[in-house]
Amino acid sequence: MDYICYDVGMSDTSFETKPNDWGIVGHEQAIHRLQLAIAGQRVRHAYLFSGPEHIGKTLLAHHFAQTLLCTGGADPEVAPQYPCNVCLSCRKVMHGNHPDVHIIARPADKQFILIEQIRTLQSDAARKTLEGRRNVFIIEGAHEMNAQAANCFLKTLEEPEPDVVLLLTATDPGLLLPTILSRVQQVPMHLLTTAQIATALAEHWQVEAEEATLIAALAAGRMGWAVKAVEDEEMLAERKAQLEMLTRLTAASRVERFEVAQQLSADSEKVRSVLDLWLLWWRDMVLAANNSLDLTVNVDMRGLLQKQAATFGPGESRRMVQAILRTMEMLEQNVNARVALEVLMLDLPAAR
Ligand SMILES: [Zn+2]
Repeated sequence: MDYICYDVGMSDTSFETKPNDWGIVGHEQAIHRLQLAIAGQRVRHAYLFSGPEHIGKTLLAHHFAQTLLCTGGADPEVAPQYPCNVCLSCRKVMHGNHPDVHIIARPADKQFILIEQIRTLQSDAARKTLEGRRNVFIIEGAHEMNAQAANCFLKTLEEPEPDVVLLLTATDPGLLLPTILSRVQQVPMHLLTTAQIATALAEHWQVEAEEATLIAALAAGRMGWAVKAVEDEEMLAERKAQLEMLTRLTAASRVERFEVAQQLSADSEKVRSVLDLWLLWWRDMVLAANNSLDLTVNVDMRGLLQKQAATFGPGESRRMVQAILRTMEMLEQNVNARVALEVLMLDLPAAR
C-alpha cells in the first residue's frame, strides 16, 4: 500500500508499509496499546505521549486521530485497527483539514500555550462533532501551558465530553501538573535503535547506505531528527558549524563567550537544538575520555572528540553534561535565555 506520510513537522515522504501498521517506524508497543484500546472499545478521554524531542510523539498522535476517525474499516461506524489512508476522513486528517481534529500548540511568538487557546478548545469540545465520530484535540508540547492555561485545561479533563479525545505530547511527564497527569493515560515512547533508523532511511527514504549510517548515528534514537536531516541539506552543515564553534569557545575570552550567549538567546528554537547538540557532544566526550570512543554518536568527528577528551578528561566532561542539563531545565522553566546561557558559558572549561 502506497501512501503519503503527511507533514506534521516531521516528514513528507511516501513509502511502502505493511498493511497492519500505522506507517510509523518503531514504537510498536505504543501502537499496540492504542490498537488494543480501539479493539476493546476502551479508548480513554486523554492520552499523554511522552519522550525526547523528535522521536515522533506528534506523528503518533496524528495517526491515532486518523485511525479513530477512519471510515474505511469493515464497519464504517467503528474505528479500524489501522488507518486506511484512502477514505475521505483519512485524507482530511492527512491534509490537516478535518473539522473534528484540532491542533493546539504554543504560538511561535509566545512563550506559552495561552488560556485563550484552551478556552477555544473548550468551546470546540462542547459542540457536537461535525463529521467524525470523535472530537480530537492534539495538544503539542502540553508542558508549555502557562499556569492559567493549565488550570483551565484541568476543567476539561475533569468533566470530559463523551466524544472528546485529548492527545497531549510532552518531552517529560514530570513537567505537567500532577493533577493533569493523574487524569491522562500515559504512553511513554522510547528512542529507536541506530539500526532501526539506518534501515528505515535506506528502505523508505532511499538514502545511500553510508549516509544512512552517519545520520542514524547522529540521530541518537530520534527518527524525526533523522528525517529532518535527510530533508534539510543545511542541517548537517549547521551541526558541524555549531560543534566547531563549541570547540572554539573553550579557548575564547569571557567577552566572546557572552557575545555567543547573546546571539543564541535571540532564537529560542535554535537554542534548543544547539543545546541538544552540545549535550550529545559532551556525553561523547565522557565516553571518549573513558576509552569508549567506539560508542560515541558523533562518528564523523571522532578525531576532534579524542583530542578534546584528552584535554578535558572525564571529570570536566561529566560536569559539562550536568551544566547543559541544568541550562535546559532553566529554559523549560522560562528563565531568561540569555542569563541561562551566560551561566553555561562560565561553566564551559577553558582549554589550556
Ligand atoms: Zn480511512
